[in-house]
Amino acid sequence: MDRDDFRKDYIQLIASVREYVEEQLQLGFTELEQNEPEHDSPYADFDLSALTTDAESCVKCALHETRTKVVFGVGDPNADLMFIGEAPGADEDRQGEPFVGRAGQLLTQIIEAGMKLKRSEVYIANVLKCRPPGNRNPQPVEVETCSPYLIRQIELVQPKVIMALGSFAAQMLLDTKTGITRLRGEFHACNVPGLRVPPHRTPPVIMPTYHPAYLLRNPSAKREVWEDIQKVMAHLEQA
Ligand code: SF4
Repeated sequence: MDRDDFRKDYIQLIASVREYVEEQLQLGFTELEQNEPEHDSPYADFDLSALTTDAESCVKCALHETRTKVVFGVGDPNADLMFIGEAPGADEDRQGEPFVGRAGQLLTQIIEAGMKLKRSEVYIANVLKCRPPGNRNPQPVEVETCSPYLIRQIELVQPKVIMALGSFAAQMLLDTKTGITRLRGEFHACNVPGLRVPPHRTPPVIMPTYHPAYLLRNPSAKREVWEDIQKVMAHLEQA
């Protein structure tokens, strides 16, 4: 390309840009569009307290009809480690706190005896905030309706590591259909659709592992969970 051709192309480019800007102004746009993704969560500006209050009166899915209490989440709001399970069971529904039944006692034992942390030093929540009747599996529409609460919880707590307990939590957080047996044991990049991470923060990494309720039925799987926990502790020490 000689100098004249280059000049012609350059003038043409400027003319196209001017034409585009004039068109946009005529259409009423006064600012260039930002390329940042829109956050369409209704909870984008909520803090944990406002989010809890909102969830406690939530009637967005049919589970509100059968719940006793909304089970929002407990623990350190600035925890480095977050545990996310599937949904409340009968004990949790009665008490309004996640992981307080037999499976919850095992989780507490894992945290306190295995990780040498206090339960109050981590943050514990579920994908669903209300109990599915008879502990049936969460339905996709319930997960989709309730997940904005969990997404905002993760944004606010800003953990470094999330342990996803069982298939449902792991599949929701990783946006995959792969089962827990194949997912567990390795760190995965967080792939929660719509999760916002501040520019100065790194997104949490996800360690999927077996749900404590599964461990009650299959105690031999505790060995694998222990391996997963050791990886998490090593990661937290370095982070
Ligand atoms: S499960 Fe979630 S979306 Fe459904 S009523 Fe409870 S808080 Fe609302």
